[in-house]
Amino acid sequence: MVFSRRALALASQLLHNASAAGPIVQQQHLHTCSRLAGSAALKQLNEVNNEKKSLVIFDKDGTLICFHSMWVPWTLETAKRIEEHSSLAISDKIFKLLGFCPHQQKVRPGLLAEGTMAQIRQSIVQLLTEHGVDAVNANRIVSDSVVECATHSKHTLKEIHDLQKLFGDLKRHGVKIAICTADSRIGTMGMLESLGLNQMVDRVVCGDDEGAMPKPHPRNALTICADLGISPEQALMVGDTVADLGMARSARLGGSVAVLSGVGEHHDLHHLADHMVDSVGDLMPIVLGASKVGSSAAPLNL
Ligand SMILES: [Mg+2]
Repeated sequence: MVFSRRALALASQLLHNASAAGPIVQQQHLHTCSRLAGSAALKQLNEVNNEKKSLVIFDKDGTLICFHSMWVPWTLETAKRIEEHSSLAISDKIFKLLGFCPHQQKVRPGLLAEGTMAQIRQSIVQLLTEHGVDAVNANRIVSDSVVECATHSKHTLKEIHDLQKLFGDLKRHGVKIAICTADSRIGTMGMLESLGLNQMVDRVVCGDDEGAMPKPHPRNALTICADLGISPEQALMVGDTVADLGMARSARLGGSVAVLSGVGEHHDLHHLADHMVDSVGDLMPIVLGASKVGSSAAPLNL
């Protein structure tokens, strides 16, 4: 217990320090914090309660909707536009920066999966300046090239599960629903509207909201809990990245569920998750307290 408190305190200090640093440093801190919080999580498993939860906080991309169908076309188009605007053959470096594998055509854990659009833009500006573009031009190129993702297109917006049914089930059991995403508010509300979910969600926090902090900082989760009048231990976080699960730990929520439907794989997530499932389709027994810690489609190896 002493170790877990020290780990969380150190993670909190690193987050504080990272807030004043550049985006790439922030991303490095994010992974360090997640590892520290993960160490703490191993010590805290016995403290996780298995009672019915009053609130579920969902990540969006990779958790509710398919990450790859949404963001792979966006990544390819963005890299192409930056090459055109900068006259630099820089796509491979952009892919590496974002965490995109062009051979597999898949997004891996990294900046695109876990960072906000502001962090992505700042990182690409930094990359361009490192390749001889002056700061004014770098900002202009990024402003012209890094645009919102097309959330209304049926080709890119694909539900991972029947979300009308899942959200309806949660509502029938009196469970509140929140979404906490690194994506923009325009993109997030567009997705909710397209899927007919906007009336079912009680609170939405997006990466570009004023005062929002990138995961795994606890602020967004604690703001959601406070706004909805629910104590953090009555809330469950569901996500596909270490940033999602790290936020659950840093905010001391009542539990976390890793889904294997996004960018994170079992070996990325197991050290931070109280439960691990294939997708949100397996979520209801955990929310209702009918599933014990660690019991899941993919059992934890602790
Ligand atoms: Mg995600």
